[in-house]
Amino acid sequence: MEAIGVLMMCPMNSYLEQELDKRFKLFRYWTQPKQREFLAQQAESIRAIVGNSTSGADADIIDSLPKLEIVSSFSVGLDRIDLLKCKEKGIRVTNTPDVLTEDVADLAIGLMLAVLRRICECDKYVRSGAWKLGDFKLTTKFSVKRVGIIGLGRIGLAVAERAEAFDCPINYYSRSKKANTNYTYYGSVVELASNSDILVVACALTPETTHIVNREVMDALGPKGVLINIGRGPHVDEAELVSALVKGRLGGAGLDVFEKEPEVPEQLFGLENVVLLPHVGSGTVETRKVIADLVLGNLEAHFSSKPLLTPVV
Ligand code: NAP
Repeated sequence: MEAIGVLMMCPMNSYLEQELDKRFKLFRYWTQPKQREFLAQQAESIRAIVGNSTSGADADIIDSLPKLEIVSSFSVGLDRIDLLKCKEKGIRVTNTPDVLTEDVADLAIGLMLAVLRRICECDKYVRSGAWKLGDFKLTTKFSVKRVGIIGLGRIGLAVAERAEAFDCPINYYSRSKKANTNYTYYGSVVELASNSDILVVACALTPETTHIVNREVMDALGPKGVLINIGRGPHVDEAELVSALVKGRLGGAGLDVFEKEPEVPEQLFGLENVVLLPHVGSGTVETRKVIADLVLGNLEAHFSSKPLLTPVV
């Protein structure tokens, strides 16, 4: 397979990069100073794209690569891939479902605890020596809080199962009520937010779910409510979020993702009821290795004419 051209869109994992380099003819897109010219030069040799949640395969790049056969994403989210275009052109698409579910759900619980129990602030309190001057103030209990989940898919369900262990009643919203669960379904996000103490965003990013958490939803969650976003930044209207947090209309937020990563609104930096993470939901050594192996496995299956391991298109 050494002659097969694979285009990696951005740096994502050094093990994956090394293995792609060993097994295929690897092109590193981010190192190309003149990307348009590069694509024109390699148009006949690139047969696969490896992207992630930052950089995938948009219509432009797909159209510039006439020999493209497969897009293998180093992510479960498909929001950076033009799926319609891939379908039209018969280009296969794979992602990495299931293998990262536990890590992302673990982190969602970590964010809930960190925001309510002010874990990051407490850590600063000890390090700065402030403890010597007096005890830290009281925080908010997590167990038994009502947890509302937008999108009861793989990750949403794993968050629900974990929160159940803290005796939290579970509510959810998705496009349809699930037959195989006793969790309480709400037919609108506003209704879900009104009936939850903590609202977790765990749905796929699509045009319909962009800004699914808007001002009305934040107001329904209210001044004691906490928003946790481990989905994608554009799920939340970030300008409204900043305003709700600054004005105290929302109780707190734990955010792993942002609208314009790696840019984060500076107004959030001074707020102690907010915990900010640099999009690390699946970022463990163990899981990223498994994700990389799945990307490689899908590419090898495709180019050996075997069934794809995790096909989307
Ligand atoms: P999944 O199993 O496909 O679940 C996606 C959920 O989104 C489904 O439950 C679906 O529910 C819901 N959904 C889709 N369109 C919707 C809409 N219009 N309104 C409401 N709900 C909608 O995917 P997953 O593996 O759980 O991953 C979920 C997302 O997490 C990914 O797409 C990705 O963006 C994000 N993620 C983030 C990180 C991170 O590092 N922070 C890591 C991995 C994944 P219905 O079909 O029932 O509507």
